Amino acid sequence: MQKREVVVIGSGVAGMTASIYLKRAGIDVLVIECDAPGGQLNKSSSIENYPGFKFIDGPTLAMNIYEQVNDLNVDYLFDKVVEIKNSNDKRIVKTAKEEIECDYVILSTGRTSRMLNLENEKKYIGKGISFCALCDGNFYKDKNVIVIGGGNSAVEEALYLANICKKVIIVHRRDKLTAEEALIEGINKYDNIEILYKTNVLKYNGDDNKIESVTLDNGNTIDVDGVFIAIGYVPINNLIDVKKENGYILVDDNYETSISNIYACGDAIKKNTYQIATAIGEATNAASNIIRKIKGT
Ligand SMILES: Cc1cc2nc3c(=O)[nH]c(=O)nc-3n(C[C@H](O)[C@H](O)[C@H](O)COP(=O)(O)OP(=O)(O)OC[C@H]3O[C@@H](n4cnc5c(N)ncnc54)[C@H](O)[C@@H]3O)c2cc1C
Repeated sequence: MQKREVVVIGSGVAGMTASIYLKRAGIDVLVIECDAPGGQLNKSSSIENYPGFKFIDGPTLAMNIYEQVNDLNVDYLFDKVVEIKNSNDKRIVKTAKEEIECDYVILSTGRTSRMLNLENEKKYIGKGISFCALCDGNFYKDKNVIVIGGGNSAVEEALYLANICKKVIIVHRRDKLTAEEALIEGINKYDNIEILYKTNVLKYNGDDNKIESVTLDNGNTIDVDGVFIAIGYVPINNLIDVKKENGYILVDDNYETSISNIYACGDAIKKNTYQIATAIGEATNAASNIIRKIKGT
């Protein structure tokens, strides 16, 4: 069994930031990631609120950080963590293929898109239902799509799709959008975006291969080629039984969870603001506190 000082679970912006600080301090760190490095950054088509860049797309920012991590020779394991076992003197991180013993764990597992949980929703994922316009938007070139939601992610998805698709209908359950004003103003530049307020999708219709229409709670059925769901997120936190609130991991001022030597940062934790800048700050603090503990400073 390999042994490490610190195992970082998740290689989104939080996990990568933590690994930069740990490695530069001479700590033996392993990052475990079950998908592509970058996490949610890979879904963001335009970032305009991260200092230092007036505009940058998420995948480019993810690759920039990953390059920095690689230049430091941070060790990576591309595998899914399935469980963490904790005892007083060690922690065992179990992946699908192996077990790693370590002194400290950082949980930077982020969060994933919430689903509506309607009938046939799972069946149509990849056959008309998507959670990422940047990833799948081009499949709907010159076609009609709907975006479900009304917050920042939904409006960002709609703006991106409006450049590709024939028509984009935002279906929102409230009577006004909750996205930032700057994003909402962007909608006015497009005459192919329509907004249906106080409306919910009730049913997906289609054959075995693709969605053809959706039925709304106003009684209408509209023909669509694609449905982009952007109704919020669910934290990923099922690896160990630390204290949580509404599914989000609770941490103290040092970013330590209710279990000693297990830290958490980024979108997996309970906080007020879920952004790149906050994830980076929390990861910096979590890593720095672990470094202080290891070095006894
Ligand atoms: C469409 C969209 C647009 C956005 N736009 C902006 C913006 O403009 N500005 C801004 O500041 N923020 C934006 N955000 C939010 C920002 O992207 C997130 O706050 C930030 O990326 C969170 O980073 P994270 O590292 O905490 O989590 P994540 O990015 O979610 O990364 C978590 C990583 O952990 C991995 N993982 C999870 N479970 C396991 C496991 N069991 N084993 C191994 N690996 C695991 C995942 O695969 C993932 O790579 C946007 C988000 C989205 C979805």
